[in-house]
Amino acid sequence: MSNDRRRRELARAERVLPGLWRLRLPLPWPAVPHVNTWAIASGSGVVLVDAGLHEPGALRQLELALDQAGVRLEHVRLLVCTHAHSDHYGLAGPIVEASGCELWMHPNHEHMTKAAASPEAMLERRIEVARHSGVPASALAGYEESRRGQGVGVAEVVLPDRDLLPGVEVDSDLGAWQVHETPGHAPSHVVLHQPDRRVLISGDHILGRVSLYYDYGYSPDPAGEFLASLDAVEDLDVQLILAGHGRPVRDLRGLVAANRAKVAERLERVRAAMADGPRTPYEIVPLLVGEEAPSDMMVSWGLSEVLCYLRHLEVRGEAAPLDGEDPARWGLTGRR
Ligand SMILES: [Zn+2]
Ligand SMILES: [Zn+2]
Repeated sequence: MSNDRRRRELARAERVLPGLWRLRLPLPWPAVPHVNTWAIASGSGVVLVDAGLHEPGALRQLELALDQAGVRLEHVRLLVCTHAHSDHYGLAGPIVEASGCELWMHPNHEHMTKAAASPEAMLERRIEVARHSGVPASALAGYEESRRGQGVGVAEVVLPDRDLLPGVEVDSDLGAWQVHETPGHAPSHVVLHQPDRRVLISGDHILGRVSLYYDYGYSPDPAGEFLASLDAVEDLDVQLILAGHGRPVRDLRGLVAANRAKVAERLERVRAAMADGPRTPYEIVPLLVGEEAPSDMMVSWGLSEVLCYLRHLEVRGEAAPLDGEDPARWGLTGRR
């Protein structure tokens, strides 16, 4: 059953610039059918940016795409991850093993490396957050059943040989790439900028189609951090954006503006949901993501997004949880 028709789609490589290839790897996720890995010529080998999801046959797919770019796994000189989500980090272990290369990644990777090391503990924690957020027992049971025993899409936990922080440069035949921290989508998120070529490898921070996602529970204010990370990239000199999903795109400023507008609209929906009185986070989810979303989605990304906006409104002094309630209900403070 898992060998369904999606698996018949094969990985592909396309040359984006001389010395830079997009490796488009299939994903088993209906809403996100591919992830991009970037191979950048570097001396006698390549720097690989992002690693693809770990699942049966995935390493073979990566090798297939590399082969189209005229590269073998052993030619990878360095692996850099834009962030530690499974679709960007999942194959890091096998790549490091096959090539002997180093892994460079931002140090705030625990949101994945801890989860991958003990998925059961992570699920327990998610379930507790969901329960405290007002998810009813029946929906919780369904969520737990859909998640328990599922892999996290990471072959093995490998820790970075070097912390990918501002000041670190990633050398390549196209010049050195500069690191900018862009937490929000994930606490470990960075983008890579090549100023001479005016190219930005944006990971999931800036996508060609606005699609908001935040990791809840690892940093004080993920939505606020995401907004600050939009400020952080807005003025970079960029003419080509290589995003983690989809084709290369342009118009960085337009995309930054579209992301800001979308966040503002989502925050307004969350405020409106509390206009008639306090609500549990779970009661706000359908008002944010729509009634028709599947229930396990409501409990996972829908709830995370609501919690991140509530937290952001709390940081701004606009909303707060009511004292001592469990499940928690949130209300507006009247300040804005
Ligand atoms: Zn991601
Ligand atoms: Zn992604």
